[in-house]
Amino acid sequence: MFQTTIAREVSCSGVGLHTGVNVALLLKAALPDQGVRFIRTDIVGRDNVVPALAMNVATTQLGTNLCNTDGVSVATVEHLLAACAGAGIDNLTVELDGPEAPILDGSSSPFSRLLSLAGSDIQTVTRRVLKIVRPVEVRDGVKWVRLSPCSEARFRVEIDFKTRAIGRQSVDFTMTPGAFERDVAFARTFGFLETVEALRSRGLARGGSMDNAIVIDGDQVLNPAGLQCPDEFVRHKLLDVIGDLFLAGGPIEGFYEGFQPGHDLNNRLLRAIFSDPSTFVWRTATEGVASSRTS
Ligand SMILES: [Zn+2]
Repeated sequence: MFQTTIAREVSCSGVGLHTGVNVALLLKAALPDQGVRFIRTDIVGRDNVVPALAMNVATTQLGTNLCNTDGVSVATVEHLLAACAGAGIDNLTVELDGPEAPILDGSSSPFSRLLSLAGSDIQTVTRRVLKIVRPVEVRDGVKWVRLSPCSEARFRVEIDFKTRAIGRQSVDFTMTPGAFERDVAFARTFGFLETVEALRSRGLARGGSMDNAIVIDGDQVLNPAGLQCPDEFVRHKLLDVIGDLFLAGGPIEGFYEGFQPGHDLNNRLLRAIFSDPSTFVWRTATEGVASSRTS
């Protein structure tokens, strides 16, 4: 019902998946209606605040990367944002001293634990919810994503990979308190050995290792400890969807379906919604429709 921030500051540090740069992260409470904002403390002389909003998504190669109008960017924000969505956080200041959020173990669990340690502070302002009132769909070849009207925050994600390590997997999920932390947060990002090598040669994936990603070679999972569950891959795709949709600027009331979804399609879906005011209304959590306000 009410907007929520964290009760006390918490911090962590680790390398960025793509930059390989060690970054310290400090999570602080934020005022109502402020949303989630990243602050690059290593940047001086430019606007170092990067709001976590769909319109600030600059690139979606290998992760969701934000950039403000002054060219200040923060990469790979989706796993932290998914944890915020799961914990029901509306307002948060994320200070970091480098260009990319730490990858930690490649999942959202470390961020979820951090938010749990921080505790929640329920604020006095009512939460606003993005209610989908007409279906919106975005396609790219065989890949597609869609949001349609629904009284809950529901998700259905399906993936289909040639490798027998993954194959065809699907997951159904409804966002309720505790569900994200139990069923989704643990799922780690994954990559293919040949892609990792190609990325390395382009100066990317510098922080990547089997400590923070599931690595697949042919039909084999290379990580000695294997998977945490057979459908860990599709659960990670769901985790990414939840992080990407958090950039709407408020929880979404609707049914998300995706076949082979990715950061690009998820962002295009939000932009398609915001570009057509007939597809959504902002409503306050306690009552009817609030004044329409674009994100
Ligand atoms: Zn991911």
